[in-house]
Amino acid sequence: MYDYLIVGAGLAGAVFARCMTEKGKRCLVLEKRDHIAGNVYSEQIEGIEVHRYGPHVFHTDNEKVWEFVNRFAVFNHFVYSPVANYKGELYNLPFNMNTFHALWGVNTPEEAEKIIRRQREDSGIHNPENLEEQAIFLAGRDIYEKLIKGYTEKQWGKPCKKLPAFIIRRLPLRFTYDNNYFDHPHQGIPVGGYTRMVEKMLEGIEVKTGVDYRKSRKEYEKLAEKILYTGPIDEYFDYCFGKLEYRSLRFETEILETENYQGVAGINYTDAETPYTRIIEHKHFEFGTRKNDVGHAERTGKTVITREYPVSWKRGDEPYYPVNDKRNMELYEKYKKESLKDQRIIFAGRLGKYQYYDMDKAIASVLELAEGM
Ligand code: FAD
Ligand code: UDP
Repeated sequence: MYDYLIVGAGLAGAVFARCMTEKGKRCLVLEKRDHIAGNVYSEQIEGIEVHRYGPHVFHTDNEKVWEFVNRFAVFNHFVYSPVANYKGELYNLPFNMNTFHALWGVNTPEEAEKIIRRQREDSGIHNPENLEEQAIFLAGRDIYEKLIKGYTEKQWGKPCKKLPAFIIRRLPLRFTYDNNYFDHPHQGIPVGGYTRMVEKMLEGIEVKTGVDYRKSRKEYEKLAEKILYTGPIDEYFDYCFGKLEYRSLRFETEILETENYQGVAGINYTDAETPYTRIIEHKHFEFGTRKNDVGHAERTGKTVITREYPVSWKRGDEPYYPVNDKRNMELYEKYKKESLKDQRIIFAGRLGKYQYYDMDKAIASVLELAEGM
């Protein structure tokens, strides 16, 4: 009846469904949540587009991906420039001349580089082997202590010494007065929200929400020749080799009777004591229609904020972040090998591939997959 059964209506599933439909294939998309769009889902609350599963800023250096998403949405000119709050001291992120000026009172790149170089030399680290060493090697001890250690240990629930170095390499360190969190040439938020963008990708394609494939496998697997699975790969195989580790999150969303709560989309709380990692004020993402002082279209006297609490993952929780350390990657390889035994099933997306994909990487990998089919 169908050429492809697609499990998961997140970005990976939706992009694959779109591409294969355009190749003349019949697709059925199953989604266990009661809505499409996966973790990029956004919804209107008090007239503000709220990112339900954490703040999502689209950014890419991949022209194909940029061209693709622009078919389904117009992007605004939002630039993510979060602020860090360390025990009441405020610093610009990512680490740049504004941060260095606030930390050390330096004004020039040369002065800042000198301080970081000295701190690196004092540490005696030459070949960083874990996140702590990598962070001190890249940015020096002050930045590590105030802006990285507390945040990272809350986020991942482990000491920085026990975390892989690559996690921190995601963050830019630059010697210019530039608070743009991302280095990519394209960045923005889809006007009208991510959900509407994914809705457009899925236009004309059959989608069933509220269906967990694992519970209805017998009914659905016979309906299609091939299956694209974007849920967790270990769950698909009933954890036969053991559980992969994930990190989960708890979001606490609140409507406040104030126009502008924190003046910026994101504030990271980088100390160890504050139990949440960040507060998001959603209206600031809707930049580009500056009719008032916060860049939001209308004054409503209200705002919506979300506090993000990292929590350890257990079965049944949302698996937000794969923990790509050595043990988990070895375990993932076993599942991957197992998956290759069945020609009918293809794994994709953040959970299917157990990869720390940003949106653009999740899309790029599915575009490539679809091209080859
Ligand atoms: P998902 O969005 O997780 O979609 C998978 C879908 O499959 C889900 O809807 C799930 O319900 C469904 N599913 C699973 N199992 C089953 C089943 N058995 N039956 C039916 N359906 C099932 N990326 C950026 O580029 N910029 C950002 O700013 C950014 N911020 C992020 C913030 C947070 C807090 C998190 C967690 C991620 C962030 N990302 C960001 C990454 C981004 O969310 C992912 O790249 C993207 O969502 C991946 O899409 P996906 O389709 O692979 O996964
Ligand atoms: N990080 C940090 N301090 C911050 C922000 C990030 O130490 O204020 C670290 C943290 O370990 C995080 C990593 O940098 O996991 C990558 O940050 P990013 O913002 O890319 O995280 P994500 O997009 O995965 O939420």
